[in-house]
Amino acid sequence: MLDCPVCHYQNHHLAINCSSCGSFLQARVENLDLFATAWNILERPRKTFHTIAIAKHKNYVVPLSMLSGVAIIYSIFWITKAGDHAESLLNILTASVAVGPPLGIFTLFTLGVLIASLGKIVRSKVRLRDAFAIAVYALIPIDLSIFLILPIKLLSFGQYYFTSNPSPYLLKPNIYVVLLILDGTFTLWSMVLLFLGIQKLLDRAWITILAIGLGACGILVGMIVTVLRLLFPSLA
Ligand SMILES: [Zn+2]
Repeated sequence: MLDCPVCHYQNHHLAINCSSCGSFLQARVENLDLFATAWNILERPRKTFHTIAIAKHKNYVVPLSMLSGVAIIYSIFWITKAGDHAESLLNILTASVAVGPPLGIFTLFTLGVLIASLGKIVRSKVRLRDAFAIAVYALIPIDLSIFLILPIKLLSFGQYYFTSNPSPYLLKPNIYVVLLILDGTFTLWSMVLLFLGIQKLLDRAWITILAIGLGACGILVGMIVTVLRLLFPSLA
């Protein structure tokens, strides 16, 4: 809660103006700068999530979620061993560019809906656009992995990074293990950022934040797995 210095009305912690007397409670943020926000989210996540939450315009959320979608589809290719069915690396690249962006928008928007809905259970007022923006910016480390890790995967293994026979581990065990550790680190980093972002939105105890974050991610992964199983019955 944010105490109004003029009338002492208890306002929502992200309010710009006092709901009672209209006094300014904190500086307004109009726009988000892409590179400054992306950098600051890695350096000062709490402060930056606050800026994102109070920003009037949630700039770049759609292009960034499209980028995250590319990272997500490559993870799905890896989990489903899509390389076994692809004729060449070109097929995998084409599919990632075609399916990744819409998948990213759908996935992150749904994550925003889940965070906002679960927030209501603990009586926290969360606007959907704030939750969507927090989810998108929390995935900046995963977005970075597209530029830092994915090229190494594709150059070292080609389509065999995504095959079960031969397994990439058998082809180049050392590089494969390093890439798995890097992937895990970037994913964990994004998860931590997501929890920090949810905390900034909900302003609740950490146990509540953990439950909501894990609940939202669990439901989302469940939805993706269900859709994949319906589309590709052979996976089940
Ligand atoms: Zn006031």
